[in-house]
Amino acid sequence: MEGLIKNSTTSRDTGFAEREEKQRQNELCSSCGLCSIQAWPVTESVSSCVFTNGWLGEREKKLFGRERSLDNPVEMRFGITLERFTAQLKNPLPGSQWSGIITRMAMRACEEQLVEGVISLQHTPGHHFFSQPVLAWSLDDIYATRGNKPVLSPVLSSLESAYRLGMKKVMVIGAACHLHTMRNFQEQHEYLRGMEILTIGIPCVDNVARSKWPWILKRMSKSPDTACHMEFMQDFRIHIRHLDGSVEKVPFFSLPEELSDPSIFPPACMSCFDYLNSLADITVGYIGAKLLPRQKRQWILVRTETGQRLLKLIEEELERFPESGKWECRSFVQNTTKRIIESMKETHKEYSPNSRIPLWLGNLLAGALGMIGPKGVGFAHYSVDFHLIRHYYYVKFRHPEKLEKLVPRHVRVILAEYGLPL
Ligand SMILES: Cc1cc2nc3c(=O)[nH]c(=O)nc-3n(C[C@H](O)[C@H](O)[C@H](O)COP(=O)(O)OP(=O)(O)OC[C@H]3O[C@@H](n4cnc5c(N)ncnc54)[C@H](O)[C@@H]3O)c2cc1C
Ligand code: SF4
Ligand code: SF4
Repeated sequence: MEGLIKNSTTSRDTGFAEREEKQRQNELCSSCGLCSIQAWPVTESVSSCVFTNGWLGEREKKLFGRERSLDNPVEMRFGITLERFTAQLKNPLPGSQWSGIITRMAMRACEEQLVEGVISLQHTPGHHFFSQPVLAWSLDDIYATRGNKPVLSPVLSSLESAYRLGMKKVMVIGAACHLHTMRNFQEQHEYLRGMEILTIGIPCVDNVARSKWPWILKRMSKSPDTACHMEFMQDFRIHIRHLDGSVEKVPFFSLPEELSDPSIFPPACMSCFDYLNSLADITVGYIGAKLLPRQKRQWILVRTETGQRLLKLIEEELERFPESGKWECRSFVQNTTKRIIESMKETHKEYSPNSRIPLWLGNLLAGALGMIGPKGVGFAHYSVDFHLIRHYYYVKFRHPEKLEKLVPRHVRVILAEYGLPL
């Protein structure tokens, strides 16, 4: 077994370099890892790529027997669900991103032998923010997958090890691009058909290429070398935890202007239309949960019966709360649309590196928005709409040939709700 895992690491590294090269050539590729697999032709992997086939549509219909309803504003944003609520582990796992619901579910699935292995990521040794793919089957190795790696990550490359080992029941933890591509591949090609694949999804947006990460972190934090954990929070601030336990809070408004340029994100992530990971059996995020001091409330979207099975494994360990917050956020989205559309059009904007709103003013703005702005499901609604509008105009202006294929139909309905041009 060891040998197989090591071999697939070597092929992953080669494939990853190729993918990063593709990024530089401005092609749409999120380095999901499928193309670095050598057990089948790379053309078969590319044929299942979400950036070849587009988001949702047929894939959603295959999984749920229907596409999301265009008459249901909540389903258009959050996707099809059986149940949604907020929760946290009664005993949060140290080192996890929030309370560790994902890691705990994966460990329990292995303990109960629902799966033989878990495909996910571990931290690159010695690096808090970089990832290396893993097929984990011991509880220790699964535990070591906890925590975010906020860079494009080749999760799917570990499918090669699971396939070569003949595993029949596997869990994949991934972002939406991973799960779209994996589900398409499993259906279109024979290799993984005999494998039952259970999926846990993270919401994902604004991910970055690892080559850009140091540059970005340096502009976000006063002490990039000691940063070890980071999250974009519902209080309109980035919370950056440092090795000594201190938390640096930077209001979004006080980030340098150059970080608002679309080119800091990979073209693939700017062409992403499934923030809330709608093809996962269960999505575990935080964006629709209340942000409360000293709590780690998360937002759970159970989508399929498999998701219900996974949730049941940790039911006793969860403190549950209903969703909260008002749905309405129209005026907040509308305040930003003109600026978003303009910035998606401009391709060569010059920025002064020192151009930023001072921290005191940024904190004042974040404090005011935290009081009057959307909360709970309203904040999730705002964030989904903001990103889908941004991405629609990104693709329209920068990859117009991809617009028809990539954009799912509910996006146009939402643009029409805001009176925005197609
Ligand atoms: C780039 C990025 C952006 C995100 N944006 C949002 C957001 O806007 N709103 C929201 O609600 N949630 C977002 N999340 C998810 C959120 O931060 C937490 O990961 C999630 O709520 C699970 O928390 P947990 O404590 O249960 O996770 P843990 O138990 O710590 O497990 C996290 C799991 O996610 C996997 N993972 C980490 N990084 C990646 C990656 N780059 N690609 C694939 N898998 C990964 C880990 O390997 C691990 O299996 C984002 C995550 C990432 C990586
Ligand atoms: S996103 Fe994945 S499937 Fe698509 S080209 Fe990149 S590595 Fe291949
Ligand atoms: S933002 Fe979208 S394309 Fe980029 S890594 Fe996340 S899910 Fe994949």
